[in-house]
Amino acid sequence: MNDITEKCTGCRACEQLCSQKAISMIEDDEGFLVASIDQSKCIDCGLCQKRCPQNIAIMKSIACQALAVRLKDDELLFRSASGGAFMGIAKAWIENGGVVYGVTYDSEWNACHVCANSLNELKKIQSSKYVQANTQHSYSDIKAKLMQGKKVLFSGTACQVGGLKSFLKKDYDNLLTMDLICHGVNSPLLFKKYIVWLEKQKNFKIKEYNFRSKLAGWALNFSIKTDSKEKMHFCDVDPYYYRFLEGVTYRECCYECKYCTPGRVGDITIGDYWGIENEHPDFYDVRGVSCMLINTDKGLEVWKNFSSNFYYKETTFEKISKHNSNLLKPTKRKDMVRNTIYHGIKDSDTWFEDSFAKTFQPSFKAKMKDLIPACLKLYIKKHLK
Ligand SMILES: Cc1cc2nc3c(=O)[nH]c(=O)nc-3n(C[C@H](O)[C@H](O)[C@H](O)COP(=O)(O)OP(=O)(O)OC[C@H]3O[C@@H](n4cnc5c(N)ncnc54)[C@H](O)[C@@H]3O)c2cc1C
Repeated sequence: MNDITEKCTGCRACEQLCSQKAISMIEDDEGFLVASIDQSKCIDCGLCQKRCPQNIAIMKSIACQALAVRLKDDELLFRSASGGAFMGIAKAWIENGGVVYGVTYDSEWNACHVCANSLNELKKIQSSKYVQANTQHSYSDIKAKLMQGKKVLFSGTACQVGGLKSFLKKDYDNLLTMDLICHGVNSPLLFKKYIVWLEKQKNFKIKEYNFRSKLAGWALNFSIKTDSKEKMHFCDVDPYYYRFLEGVTYRECCYECKYCTPGRVGDITIGDYWGIENEHPDFYDVRGVSCMLINTDKGLEVWKNFSSNFYYKETTFEKISKHNSNLLKPTKRKDMVRNTIYHGIKDSDTWFEDSFAKTFQPSFKAKMKDLIPACLKLYIKKHLK
């Protein structure tokens, strides 16, 4: 708990609003960033509390259109987590003179928001980083750009979009927001410790890490790349990925997330279209399918202009949310495991292997699945559907 809100998401809106620069972001016991006030600089204006998106109601809209989409460009689709919903819009946005804010890793494995001005820069922010991203100073940068008349697309979790909206206070015609369907975020410290552990296990330096490798088609496989090779693994053999999907490592506020509702904070909401093989079997594709909710008139306008980048099919919110429960409610907190999962994370350099990884044993089935070569998995998938 801090002086601003009981449920800080770490969005950084308050830090960037404070005229006295009295707020900084510090790491909590689990390695998440939280806002902290330096009382010696604080003038008690109360702005941080008044504008904290966790303390106020944030405007949300119900989708006016629901779509299943797949990007036409195969190379860009391959690099996308699901059906390339983000890239299809973002690329066209840049081609039309805009800039795009999204998440990449820095050299120390911090996931953070950066601004992309070109297709090459966009490629770096493609695909999902299953760890909480640092919005850095993007809200202030975005405001400056919007005031100069620049077109800005911001993509992030719904709480980050909520933070941006609260920071800006008013709507700008030249701003488009895209929120992700989100089950929760892991601690950045946990992710960094995981990478150190993985490098020790594999005995090599990881150059690239991808939570959504498509070497075996659209699924939850991760890949690690060195200078010379790329190896893919099934999510369920990995302690970090397994615990993430199990939902026991999320930031505390994620279990009470106010954005896990049919009303959406972004102009456009994107996610994986899980269950597409049941809802629209003719549209299933092993290369990936995204779901897209168009929530505002602005979103609709953008979709009309850029839809030619996609193959798409009309669907319904009900069909999407049947397989994506975080559109309806937050992830349930599994108290027994969550209460202790981060204990001691700051106490030792070998905490990941000594504590975290020890509590996890991959099942026999998962281990067998992991042994199947990616090309064979892809072949089976293509021919079974
Ligand atoms: C933490 C997290 C949890 C998610 N949970 C779900 C879920 O429960 N159900 C579901 O359907 N989809 C979920 N997603 C979204 C999913 O992983 C894909 O991003 C989505 O299917 C869109 O894929 P894409 O092919 O359009 O684009 P992608 O190539 O994946 O790009 C999507 C955008 O996500 C942004 N992004 C990546 N990592 C982060 C991050 N850590 N924080 C903020 N923004 C980020 C990128 O900058 C990019 O703009 C989640 C994503 C994240 C990051």
